[in-house]
Amino acid sequence: MSNKGKILILSSPSGGGKTTICRMVLKNIPDTVYSVSATTREKRAGEKDGVDYFFLNEEDFERKEREGYFAETALVHGKRYGTPVEFLNKMIDQGKIVVMDIDVQGALKIMEKYPNSISIFIMPPSFDELEKRLKKRKRDGNDEIKLRIENAKREIYCAKKFKYIVVNENLDTAFYKIREIIEEYKKEDR
Ligand code: 5GP
Repeated sequence: MSNKGKILILSSPSGGGKTTICRMVLKNIPDTVYSVSATTREKRAGEKDGVDYFFLNEEDFERKEREGYFAETALVHGKRYGTPVEFLNKMIDQGKIVVMDIDVQGALKIMEKYPNSISIFIMPPSFDELEKRLKKRKRDGNDEIKLRIENAKREIYCAKKFKYIVVNENLDTAFYKIREIIEEYKKEDR
């Protein structure tokens, strides 16, 4: 595999703000592209197939997994998720920064396969704040929120395995820190 491009892994517990930060990175930092994952979960209102995710049924997901279509897969909140490998390698070859919004299990697998990845764990400022954010977005019921908080505790335990931890107390500040990290990497490559 060529070493020209880079992977930027952004992970955080659910409600940690990674999706918003991901969008800010893609919009404001040149040469970044988004790695669209495949999933077996239901499409949410406003989501587009091929843009937000490739929405697959269980059978297709499993077939693709057997055929080696994914760089990593994980079961997250009871649904399957996976990163298509071909797009990833192609973009790295073209010198892009491939941005991944993936869970901690997937992140650890990518770090092992692609040790040059820039891995950033986005840390919520506190569990209370995380709970507030999950309630505020009104997407999940109480049981689901409890499950996500339990999962968050496990995920935060893995934060030390990432190259960087950025606390998301304030979105702009977190974004600037991530931009700084990427700029440093770009300098090293020159
Ligand atoms: P959601 O269904 O809310 O979009 O995402 C649920 C979780 O799955 C998030 O933590 C998200 O980062 C993670 N996720 C999305 N795509 C992938 C992927 O391709 N691989 C892995 N391991 N996790 C993913």
